[in-house]
Amino acid sequence: MTERKDKKRLLLINPVSEHRRGFAQDLTAKHPPLGLAIIAAHTPSNWKIRILDENFQPFRYRDANLIGITSFTPSAPRAYAIAREFRDKGIPVIMGGVHASMCPEEALQHVDSVVIGEAESIWPQVIADAERGTLKRIYRGDMQEMNGQPVPRHDLLHPRYVFHSIQTSRGCPMNCDFCTVTAFNGNQYRLRPVKEVLDELELFRDSGRALFFVDDNIVGYGKHHLERAKELFRGMIDRDLKLNWFSQASINIADDEELLHLAAKSGCRLLLIGIEAETDKGLKSANKSLNLKRGPDSYRTVFRKINRHGIGVLGTFIFGLETDSPEDLLKRSRYILSSGVDCVQASVLTPLPGTTLMTRIREQNRLERGNFPEDWQCYHFTGLTFRHPFIPAGDFDTIMQSIWTKMYSPARIIRLFFRTWWRTGRLTTALWAYQSNLHYRHIVFEKSSETQ
Ligand code: SF4
Repeated sequence: MTERKDKKRLLLINPVSEHRRGFAQDLTAKHPPLGLAIIAAHTPSNWKIRILDENFQPFRYRDANLIGITSFTPSAPRAYAIAREFRDKGIPVIMGGVHASMCPEEALQHVDSVVIGEAESIWPQVIADAERGTLKRIYRGDMQEMNGQPVPRHDLLHPRYVFHSIQTSRGCPMNCDFCTVTAFNGNQYRLRPVKEVLDELELFRDSGRALFFVDDNIVGYGKHHLERAKELFRGMIDRDLKLNWFSQASINIADDEELLHLAAKSGCRLLLIGIEAETDKGLKSANKSLNLKRGPDSYRTVFRKINRHGIGVLGTFIFGLETDSPEDLLKRSRYILSSGVDCVQASVLTPLPGTTLMTRIREQNRLERGNFPEDWQCYHFTGLTFRHPFIPAGDFDTIMQSIWTKMYSPARIIRLFFRTWWRTGRLTTALWAYQSNLHYRHIVFEKSSETQ
């Protein structure tokens, strides 16, 4: 008891934008803040750690010796507001995560220290400096190899999450125009040893919960990456982990029947595949070279092939690509409706900080929502934040409303549920696809007047 009282208290916070609660409205759409659980695992044992997660409890002040806060871009204003409450009381606040890494100067106006990049390598030093009261303003984390890392403190995450989260790889060589992954995690695809992943998965055995591999691409980019994915899936089968899982994958997963077979057998029920556009022109504009190489004509075949293994496809499409005309938006929508994809994320091109897209738009002085940090809350992928070269903002909104109304109509969502069930032969897959469509319906129709 005495020992517990002597411990210093670290409060880790996951902020959620007050203006876009639709993102976290459905229980099945909430995912644990794994990064905070990873940081907790790198914190020495003389600290008592708590995670305050706004996915479940709105922030209320509580005392601590040190605050660690993470944030995606739309939640940054919320993160800064929370940080202010602690700084007013003299409690040091450290911010990390993708937004602070891309906008460290901005973040430093609201917090005491910023960790740029992956925080694991530098976190012990941050803690040591905090103990001495000598925190620096900026820390830079290295991109380390992923073997031998401590197991994330899953025990600190909120118990009501439907999905457990685990990460098996980081980084991406593709550097698509709109994506921060290459800037944040580097252009090398780094992998955790399969045995370490499997041992961590043992923690979730018999939990009755599903699993989300948070990897940006669970199967990677080359032949040896595909082999490693097979080894992972085989390991899950051999250990009989019985976990239904969801992840993100590149379109090349469909090139390998054995890989699909093993994925399905190990519990894969739904895969998010970044499609983005159905034309070469759109793909070039997004710099989506993986899909360009394969050609948009192959999408339908890819979806059906994946379905045949009992796996559903969540296809992501982007509207408002820089080359899009109003007619292109309608064509993309018609394409999606007839493509056979099971569920759809139809989002608006959004220039996140750190992306090539943001750099270009800023250079061309086309940012319409540039009153930062307040305007970051508008960067939620359902509205234009920049001046589009060919579509005025008002027209864009009107077209998107009509597209979303059709795409996410209750009747269509129910029809897709039965179709996915029929095509995959799996009720779980159909239910997950149904939940995803419902989730995106909530997001696109939850238009807050404060952020539009
Ligand atoms: S969108 Fe996917 S393929 Fe493109 S850079 Fe991001 S993670 Fe890589």
